[in-house]
Amino acid sequence: MQVIQSIDEIKAFVRSVRGQNKTIGFVPTMGYLHEGHQTLMRKAKKQTDFVVVSIFVNPLQFGVGEDYQEYPRDLRRDSSLAEAAGADVIFAPQVREMYPQGYSTFVDVEKLTDKLCGRSRPGHFKGVTTVVTKLFNIVQPDIAFFGQKDAQQAAVLQKMAIDLNMNLTIQIRPTVREKDGLAMSSRNSYLNPEERAAALCLYRSLEAAKNLVDAGERNTGALKQKIEGLIGQEPLARIDYVEVLSFPELAETEYLKGSSLAAAAVFIGRTRLIDNIIVEV
Ligand code: AMP
Repeated sequence: MQVIQSIDEIKAFVRSVRGQNKTIGFVPTMGYLHEGHQTLMRKAKKQTDFVVVSIFVNPLQFGVGEDYQEYPRDLRRDSSLAEAAGADVIFAPQVREMYPQGYSTFVDVEKLTDKLCGRSRPGHFKGVTTVVTKLFNIVQPDIAFFGQKDAQQAAVLQKMAIDLNMNLTIQIRPTVREKDGLAMSSRNSYLNPEERAAALCLYRSLEAAKNLVDAGERNTGALKQKIEGLIGQEPLARIDYVEVLSFPELAETEYLKGSSLAAAAVFIGRTRLIDNIIVEV
């Protein structure tokens, strides 16, 4: 598996692929790959001729006191996992080339980023939209693949691509879970065995909310209460937020209508995990 670090080199590589009239699929990641990332790569391989995976722990999207330094990194392991999932090349740029001295241009999607993770992590989405714009400009994909696991990120990136007339399609794929339901995440590697068990409260509470919806509940307050109540029973969990909003608009509503997102962010010990479900009525 070829790993390219230089921006000029990946641009030249992509140009030569395009020259062969091949379509390009793109899976941006922060690495420490798992089955969730690999599923995106397999989907990309099915729908496009050439799959680029980026691995870049983007300092711009981490706040002060967050886990930028500790974020797990293992390029050798990642490159064999990416190859196994059908990726054609890995682009793993250096921070100093992405953000050289004097870097001063940012992309900011307003409103959608005021809530959920945007409220808890000020500046996070500005970091995400800026790096993804740069990556799109470098890789020039036809289709970029993202996970519903980060549902707000998906909504923000869709909006950015539309608002800025970007020449690509953004495809959102379902969340891949462990057997017991825990959403796969590179950050799960931070959890000790007790925390790993406790982390299940996130998925279980969202499932319970979905069961309520299936039984006819439409009041968003009642759903939030159910989720908060169940997470509240887990001594190792501390709620950052629980929200039920319309999707993809992320607007508050008293009653479910159409597509809605039930999303939660929870600290399990020092590890912040997020999960969500989308319900349709
Ligand atoms: P990350 O490396 O965590 O920034 O994630 C890179 C991409 O993989 C993002 O589009 C995520 O939404 C997606 N992703 C991460 N975890 C999962 C998962 N469990 N299922 C599906 N997609 C995921």
